[in-house]
Amino acid sequence: MSKNLLFIPGPVTVAPAVLAATAQQMVDHRGPRFKELLDGLVARLKPIFGTTIADVLILGASGTGGLEAAVGNMFGPGDTILACPVGVFGQRIIGIAQAFGCSVEVLATPWGSGVDPEALRARLAADTAKKITGVLLTHNETSTGVQNDMAPLAEITRAHGAYVVVDSVSGLAASEFRMDEWGFDVVVTASQKALAVPPGLAMVAVAPRAWKKIEANASPRFYFDLVKAREFATLGQTPWTPPVSIVYALDAALDLFTDEGPANVWRRHARYAQAIRAACTALGLELFSQEGSHSVTVVAAKVPAGVDGDAIRKTLREERGLTLGGGQKELKGKIIRIGTMGDLSQTDILGMLGALELGLLDAGHPVQIGTGAKAALEVFLKESAVPA
Ligand code: PLP
Repeated sequence: MSKNLLFIPGPVTVAPAVLAATAQQMVDHRGPRFKELLDGLVARLKPIFGTTIADVLILGASGTGGLEAAVGNMFGPGDTILACPVGVFGQRIIGIAQAFGCSVEVLATPWGSGVDPEALRARLAADTAKKITGVLLTHNETSTGVQNDMAPLAEITRAHGAYVVVDSVSGLAASEFRMDEWGFDVVVTASQKALAVPPGLAMVAVAPRAWKKIEANASPRFYFDLVKAREFATLGQTPWTPPVSIVYALDAALDLFTDEGPANVWRRHARYAQAIRAACTALGLELFSQEGSHSVTVVAAKVPAGVDGDAIRKTLREERGLTLGGGQKELKGKIIRIGTMGDLSQTDILGMLGALELGLLDAGHPVQIGTGAKAALEVFLKESAVPA
């Protein structure tokens, strides 16, 4: 197989220019060239977070490291956290908060749905004594293909005043994010998702208000000390040796992002997700995410009864060089997940959908050949299918 394409929700297929950037010679990470690089990254990342006032810190870590940095620096044993999980990654951040000794209360949401603003409003309104000091939100939940509508949730958390940490590991850069306007305190993303860079960097944006909380927090930290990261960032450095090659890759990817333009990047992800959803529906695969909560970076669809989704994914991977995601934890074997992020063209999407049709047919699922691809093509044909 000469060509392999990743349709998993990260890591993603990386553009040749970004891959080539990783082959550059190392530089001194305490020298002027690295400072220039780092300053350039931060300047281009800030608008992606939707901030002019937050510090954007770049850490050598995966997304989980970024989340540990966010939660561990912000919270500790004296904090009562309202976690709002909508899937596996929302559960992971609860584990992090518990590991740092926080008392965690869960606002439960059925998987497949986004957080109900009215449920969040009611819970926070009932907290008249302001015992809740922190709220954990997931922007985009990769395990269920759900994206929360952040603006209404932000309005509610702002009214309460608790500190808000947002996991946007698989959301940021794929759709508009307005950290300052929404009033979020810490927002976390990672390199290997919508930014379409190899894994290795977490990016953590910290609002001015959050620094007071971080400085007052006695929780232990060392590698992920955000105060230290901010201190070194002012020098154009990271506290520890960074993955220099991935820094080069992020630099190249941000050039591509700028050339394409943010609105076009957002439109591309939204349109790919819409096309894949239309195809799944046409093929008789029920969407796992509910209307109004669909993610633009990953489509989760139920595997029809009697069909072995993992066997189809194995065939696509081994025989066609196409890797699709499966379900995680309790959704294992029950859903397939198709990512839209990375260096993928409409032609790649159509090819993958054609292969999926053949896989389903092979597995005994009644498919009228071409119906999935046709539904996707119709989305691609309609410029107005997705609002700009
Ligand atoms: N949060 C979300 C929403 C994710 O999708 C992921 C990874 O898929 C993570 C956190 C964890 O990131 P990582 O695997 O980079 O540690």
